[in-house]
Amino acid sequence: MKVAIIGIGSVGAAVATAIKNTGLVHEMVLFDRDGVRARAAAQDLGHAAAFSFDVKITAASSYREIKDSEIVVIAAGANQKPGQTRTDLLAANANVIADIIPKVMANVDAKKVKIIIVTNPLDVMVMLVRDLSKLPASRVIGTGTMLDSARLRTILARQLDVSPMSINAYVLGEHGDSSVVNWESVSIGAIPLNDFCRTTKLPLPQTTRRTIEHRVHNAAYEIIQGRGATWDGIAAAVNDLLRCIINDEKRILTVSSCNAKTNLSMSLPTIVGNNGVIQVLSPRLSTSESNALRASGRIIKKNYNNI
Ligand code: NAD
Repeated sequence: MKVAIIGIGSVGAAVATAIKNTGLVHEMVLFDRDGVRARAAAQDLGHAAAFSFDVKITAASSYREIKDSEIVVIAAGANQKPGQTRTDLLAANANVIADIIPKVMANVDAKKVKIIIVTNPLDVMVMLVRDLSKLPASRVIGTGTMLDSARLRTILARQLDVSPMSINAYVLGEHGDSSVVNWESVSIGAIPLNDFCRTTKLPLPQTTRRTIEHRVHNAAYEIIQGRGATWDGIAAAVNDLLRCIINDEKRILTVSSCNAKTNLSMSLPTIVGNNGVIQVLSPRLSTSESNALRASGRIIKKNYNNI
């Protein structure tokens, strides 16, 4: 399995490291418009082959070298500076995607390739990649709210003193400020959240829930304030998505993919396997969650129309 990563900044380099450390792929090719940076990253990470999986890692000097990649991860483009929202990146990153996708498509097998999008604003970039690549929507997959859902699960895990792996909890909609915490469908193992709280005598009142939502929505801003960018969490998310695809695991992940009927990309619980998106599921929503999800969709559509 050969994977290409386009954009070897903080996120792309962390993604390459995460993938390398699982030995999921035998070959990785790194491309960045800053060739010196990509070569240095490939060299540095390549030396780690002596300590763990011997993955062949090269820096591409042209898009021709991504040939035969079955999965292409797009992590190129401007990132948020302190105080900026993801939407502030819209114009700059639409240009980056418009530059990259035709070159990617000219060098990969359109019948097989899956494109994973990380670049923000995520959902709009998924729609743009779909437009430009002409690939089936099932093979244009944004990491969506995988990271937001992971943040929610870890916060809940600490609150309820149970492993995040046992928490089924989803953040839906835009990977951005309008994302929606889907309390209505949270379960701990197979036990609905409210029943779990009653049984364990660990109450989760509305005020605590609002605080948790705030922490999920503000996590990226806090991290960017503290270390300039976010990369570890998203690298783990991309690696998890890649694993699910490569091993045909058919797990439910909150990825963002384009709905052909509504021509809108947003994150919903989605079964993901070797061919990408297998099925998008409809979670149980409260009335306020349903309204918030519709509002989130309208924001994504408006941003898309503004490109
Ligand atoms: P960065 O500035 O560290 O790296 C971006 C890289 O993209 C640079 O190396 C740059 O040279 C390269 N690049 C820019 N234009 C290019 C082009 N046309 N062709 C090839 N390479 C190009 O930024 P980062 O922190 O790595 O973030 C990358 C993107 O990932 C940003 O849009 C950021 O907002 C996004 N991000 C998304 C999530 C998520 O959950 N989806 C999380 C973190 C970051």
